[in-house]
Amino acid sequence: MTKTISEPAREIDVIHNTDVLVVGSGPGGLAAALAAARTGVEVALVERFGCFGGNITAVGVEGFAWYRHEATIEAGGIGREFEDRAKAMGAAVPESQSLSFELDSEGFKLVADRLVGEAGVRPMLHRQFVAPIMEGNTIVGIITESKAGREAILAKRVIDATGDADVAHRAGAPTHKTPKEQMQAASVMFHLAGVDKRAFMDGVRADPQTYRDWSTGEWQVETDGKEDAMFSPFLGKPFAQAIRDGVLPAHLNTISSTWGAAHDSGELTYMNLVHLAECDGTDPDDLTAFEMEGRSQAMAAIEVLRRYTPGCESARLRNFGMTIGIRDTRKIDAVYNLTERDVRHEGRFEDSIGIYPEFIDGYGILILPTTGRYMHVPYRAMLPKGVQALLVAGRAIGGSRVAHAATRNMACCAVAGQGAGVAAAISVRSGRALDAVNLADVQAELIRQGVRLH
Ligand SMILES: Cc1cc2nc3c(=O)[nH]c(=O)nc-3n(C[C@H](O)[C@H](O)[C@H](O)COP(=O)(O)OP(=O)(O)OC[C@H]3O[C@@H](n4cnc5c(N)ncnc54)[C@H](O)[C@@H]3O)c2cc1C
Repeated sequence: MTKTISEPAREIDVIHNTDVLVVGSGPGGLAAALAAARTGVEVALVERFGCFGGNITAVGVEGFAWYRHEATIEAGGIGREFEDRAKAMGAAVPESQSLSFELDSEGFKLVADRLVGEAGVRPMLHRQFVAPIMEGNTIVGIITESKAGREAILAKRVIDATGDADVAHRAGAPTHKTPKEQMQAASVMFHLAGVDKRAFMDGVRADPQTYRDWSTGEWQVETDGKEDAMFSPFLGKPFAQAIRDGVLPAHLNTISSTWGAAHDSGELTYMNLVHLAECDGTDPDDLTAFEMEGRSQAMAAIEVLRRYTPGCESARLRNFGMTIGIRDTRKIDAVYNLTERDVRHEGRFEDSIGIYPEFIDGYGILILPTTGRYMHVPYRAMLPKGVQALLVAGRAIGGSRVAHAATRNMACCAVAGQGAGVAAAISVRSGRALDAVNLADVQAELIRQGVRLH
């Protein structure tokens, strides 16, 4: 039996009171905070790290819209604004496999600061959510931990954008996790310096890789067929050869996958090569073990690149992401849970808060939106059961595993976030509960904010 102790009750200072409180500032939370503020209510944005942006900035996930091709149809709105503002601020470069721009994970910290400042969102960095403040089954605020100890923040509506549904889970809303052995892998991300870009790109052009190459080695990836011959910035051969040569231990056959952008400055960024199975991102012991293992595997990967990949002979580690990248933890059981059918067959919903192209990436499936097909994202997928005044945005919204292979993608998290932010703001302004909010008003405001709904 686990030994326990009793924590004494204590008085906690209420440091702030707001209309809408957003917890977590990834593509979901950042979009939610901006959208709510632009709807005309007071907004605070709480984040445990020292920068906004979530996986973009904290992990180094730079491929925001790598799915975009000629015929792709998408929502626009704040997701597109992230890309456009990053481009305008010199924090994005053309992406190698698509008609999109790859975000610069460091530069995006400044982009997010600028957006938050312009929208009048109250920034609250370096505070970790630890507990909800409940009145019955209604959330009325949160308790944070920081260097200042425990503090309380009160709010009329709360948006959980922690990625892990931390708030919903602790508030008592039903959530579920994929069984550990089936969870999407975690990744320690890294960026390189000292790469000869010209030699590297010559090597890429001399032996171009495709999405079909994703299926060699350790993984089999299901596609529509139309993806197979398309170019992918995939690195697999160097690692397979290194295993054959005894340079890389055979059990590290999960090292491979994509590079992001080759920069004129000699940086090769968004190195998505390390994949760590059975890491539960809500378990600090797993996080500890896999951070360390991931760093070790990243260094092994760099050694292989130095030996086998043209242009990388003098490459060195520029930096790791600030934290391990987690793809798959808790999801809420929402009022409507998206299904595999919805994401594969253009789901249509009356309560659409935005559209998302037919882009499925995860659990062994890769489907790219090259045909103009898209789905609606329903408001009800963000409404948790059992808790009032709470919405969930980002990768923890309600849906099946394959549905999450679509909705976890950052641009879809931004669609959900913008919808959640506007809905929370309209709910405050109208005095109507989140499950009774006037959807016509929400949709009208989203259209005003530049979102395509249908
Ligand atoms: C290695 C890797 C590669 C990926 N590649 C791609 C890709 O190429 N393209 C793509 O579209 N998607 C990709 N994804 C998926 C995508 O990055 C995530 O699904 C997406 O960022 C989720 O957005 P979010 O806003 O829900 O959460 P996150 O981006 O995870 O942001 C959550 C934020 O909440 C904060 N937070 C968490 N808990 C607390 C707490 N208790 N208190 C306060 N703050 C808290 C975190 O610090 C973080 O800033 C990748 C993911 C990983 C891990």
